[in-house]
Amino acid sequence: MAKPSDTMKDLVGLCKRRGFIFQSSEIYGGINSCYDYGPMGIELKKNIKDAWWKSMVYERDDIEGIDASILMHPRVWEASGHVAGFTDPMIDCRESKNRYREDQLEVYVPTSGEGLMYAFPEGKPEAIAKKIKRARVELDAYEVKPLPDIDVSQYSRIVGPDTKEAGTLTEPRLFNLMFKTFMGPVESDANIVYLRPETAQGIFVNFHNVREASRQKLPFGIAQIGKAFRNEITPGNFIFRMREFEQMEMQFFVKPGTDDDWFDQWKQMRLDWYERVGITKEKLRFHKHADDALAHYAKAAFDIEYEFPFGWGELEGIHNRTDFDLASHAEYSKKNLQYYDQEAQEKYVPYVVETSTGVDRQILTSLCDAYTVDEENDRTVMSFHPRVAPMKAAVFPLVKKDGMPEVAHKIVADLRKDFRVFYDESGAVGRRYRRQDEIGTPYCFTVDTETLENGTVTVRERDSMAQERISQDKVLDYLQDRVV
Ligand code: ATP
Repeated sequence: MAKPSDTMKDLVGLCKRRGFIFQSSEIYGGINSCYDYGPMGIELKKNIKDAWWKSMVYERDDIEGIDASILMHPRVWEASGHVAGFTDPMIDCRESKNRYREDQLEVYVPTSGEGLMYAFPEGKPEAIAKKIKRARVELDAYEVKPLPDIDVSQYSRIVGPDTKEAGTLTEPRLFNLMFKTFMGPVESDANIVYLRPETAQGIFVNFHNVREASRQKLPFGIAQIGKAFRNEITPGNFIFRMREFEQMEMQFFVKPGTDDDWFDQWKQMRLDWYERVGITKEKLRFHKHADDALAHYAKAAFDIEYEFPFGWGELEGIHNRTDFDLASHAEYSKKNLQYYDQEAQEKYVPYVVETSTGVDRQILTSLCDAYTVDEENDRTVMSFHPRVAPMKAAVFPLVKKDGMPEVAHKIVADLRKDFRVFYDESGAVGRRYRRQDEIGTPYCFTVDTETLENGTVTVRERDSMAQERISQDKVLDYLQDRVV
């Protein structure tokens, strides 16, 4: 089996080669943790966003969509708790100049209580284990502890993850993850604005606007897809943790007391959604946040995690945010954000059940889940669910003569009214199939001699490579039945 690091390397290579994802500003050496989506990547992204939007907004009566601006009044971020609390404790290594999140480092601590300690990135003790062995000390003379459990007075004994000497790590310092900029020409503290670190706040501040305009009654939700920015200390794992990324968030406003039930319902509905985009069930799981690890606004929180080649990672969060957000915005804005419940004839601040996921993490999940090395047939296949596949079909004339290109063009023109379709007449058909396999095109239609005789074309299915003949007039129906 391929090692996880090789799988990621190969996948990143395929993403570049086939036009899914490029490093941002690559010709200048790239900029850390920012990525650009190429011709195939943008289609995959659009299909994932469309599937989410359909399930949230089109298929229900009780969710409305919005698109709020990225720059918001700075008080929003005071009310939300981000100015004071959206921080990570960060540690610098004076020697290597590397920066770590305190909670992402672990340490080998000698059980004797004396001698050097060795820090390593959470879950990756191998490299440091070698360092310790080279020093001819037995590993079982150590125990592993999270760095936050070590008193800072002991830091002088710690050898950093990528240094040889002890004592190069600084004490943890709190670092706010929001990007700051200035609004207007004057760069003063009074003009600071933030690039939003989440889309949720644009929903909360519009609660009354949307409710009134759409005449919704509780329970109802507001959905939004948009960019968010976080100055992450330790970005990485390709597009898993970026500094500029996109979120798909939905805030569902409910009557207090009904929140636990809605929370359970949304947990299940969100898990079920992954079937729609073809993610392997066995690679998904819930992770419950322990009560003492809950965010300041949350009463309950579950993550949906996916098993990436580099390990399990958060894909989506489902949170019971209580009335924290609306109550806090009411306090800071001095506006009444209560809801008048006509049936119960009472007023209250609604509770919020939130589902929040990253578009880019959904894309990474789809890419990892689809990536298949088919050794038997000497090919790499991206087995995307047809619903998210960037290219829905390819059409080939077997040869560039005898009227075959004309027939193929006609089929393409017909399909393009509804689908993204690729036309390819260059090289051997086998090679054309391989190219489509690598971008995950589910169906290829080939026009050949028989087409000219009886009006049938060959359809080749990507995963099974099975071929059948269907009438040229039925190609659109065939595709519609299978990819929508
Ligand atoms: P983490 O603990 O991984 O930093 P978080 O718990 O802060 O993430 P949330 O604030 O709950 O994440 O964000 C909701 C979703 O947004 C996440 O489940 C993830 O899919 C996505 N997301 C968050 N941060 C990033 C990022 N830096 N890059 C890409 N996607 C992100």
